[in-house]
Amino acid sequence: MRKDDSGDKVQVAIIGAGPSGTLAATLLHRQGIKVRVLEKGHFPRFSIGESLLPQSMVYLDEAGLGDAVASQAKELGFQFKNGAAFRHRGRYIDFDFTDKFSPGPGTTFQVKRAAFDKLLADQAQALGVDIRFGCAIETVAITDDGATLCGQDDKSQPYQLDADFVLDASGFARVLPKLFDLEAPSGLASRQSFFTHVKDNAHPSELDRNKILISVHPEHRDIWYWLIPFSDGTCSLGVVGEARYFEGRNLDNAAMLNALVAEEPGLKKVLARAEFLNPVNTLKGYSAKVKSLYGKGYALLGNAGEFLDPVFSSGVTIAFTSASLAANTLARQFRGEAVDWQRDFAEPLQGGVDVFRTYVEGWYDGLFQDVIFYPSPQVQIKRMVCSILAGYAWDKTNPYVKESSRRLGTLAEICRAG
Ligand SMILES: Cc1cc2nc3c(=O)[nH]c(=O)nc-3n(C[C@H](O)[C@H](O)[C@H](O)COP(=O)(O)OP(=O)(O)OC[C@H]3O[C@@H](n4cnc5c(N)ncnc54)[C@H](O)[C@@H]3O)c2cc1C
Repeated sequence: MRKDDSGDKVQVAIIGAGPSGTLAATLLHRQGIKVRVLEKGHFPRFSIGESLLPQSMVYLDEAGLGDAVASQAKELGFQFKNGAAFRHRGRYIDFDFTDKFSPGPGTTFQVKRAAFDKLLADQAQALGVDIRFGCAIETVAITDDGATLCGQDDKSQPYQLDADFVLDASGFARVLPKLFDLEAPSGLASRQSFFTHVKDNAHPSELDRNKILISVHPEHRDIWYWLIPFSDGTCSLGVVGEARYFEGRNLDNAAMLNALVAEEPGLKKVLARAEFLNPVNTLKGYSAKVKSLYGKGYALLGNAGEFLDPVFSSGVTIAFTSASLAANTLARQFRGEAVDWQRDFAEPLQGGVDVFRTYVEGWYDGLFQDVIFYPSPQVQIKRMVCSILAGYAWDKTNPYVKESSRRLGTLAEICRAG
């Protein structure tokens, strides 16, 4: 087995250079910690997850990456985003994230992930972060003084690295949950998504490009579509529903997406002149959870920990939050301070994830849709709901965060009665 050629053991090895891996690496590097990221692919590469939430800008700034995203946004086709719009049976409601309850940024971007992930990785490398592309990790052994990671580089040469600590940022590949038997049932129904990029040719009066458009199927309220405009006249288009809706239709992916768009008259109109740019992809059964977000010598970031659902675009925000919490806990640990991974990492992270879970479940059982589509909401309540849609699921001064389940239930009752 070839040992890592640059010699010394690192303090932190990170599996994966997606948003969570790159952000954690940058934050650790800035605190003087020796870190190496091992990424199996080569960038740019396609990834799903294109609509960011304003809350995530806090973490980009914390890592010193926010300016690069803002300054290169135009060139890379990133679209300024200030909110979310919802459409169901002719009803159209929008939320302006700058009019939210919680303090913090109110705008963000809709990004092509191939370009976004490459930009973050390039910036991290420019700051001195060590990223090895084409290096897939296959096994991880926790040892008395850390961990040994083994895998292969893309010339099929074996690769080995010793580290004091491992962060698993491998996304849906879920390297450590699979190796360490950490997988747990997600509790959410297994859903499927069909998606592609389109040249939308949409008329400006039909599509607010500054907002993600979420359309609900007229008959099945648990089927919904995303339309995420970019600044170059293209959009990401996708549909989500339980697989049972799609099985038996006997359609290929492109025909399936076309058929489903045709069933939602509002979206059909917006996309009347659209052209598909890429083959239509599908993903199924992506909701995932673990028994524990950390253990001796390791912690799980982003999708390698828990992934809920694409609705409300919380994935990258949760990935960044996990990276920031883990990096700060690790930095303290390396300084010799007493840390408690449950108190300092898992609990704060899980708090916000559970808030998102309440609203995701409420979306699919209809409670949250009744709130969103309520035509005359109280201004202050709309601002509190808006905060959650903008990603501020960790702001406990917001009653809809602090007591999410009870508040959502009561509000939905009022909306239904109204
Ligand atoms: C249909 C759908 C739509 C979505 N839409 C949105 C959205 O609009 N907004 C949003 O915020 N989120 C969205 N998400 C979620 C989003 O895609 C993820 O939450 C986000 O990408 C997680 O980031 P990450 O860093 O955890 O993992 P990833 O971005 O998946 O990165 C993981 C990296 O690890 C690498 N890797 C994997 N295995 C190995 C290995 N063995 N060795 C080395 N490297 C490895 C991969 O190549 C990859 O680069 C969506 C998800 C789905 C399923």
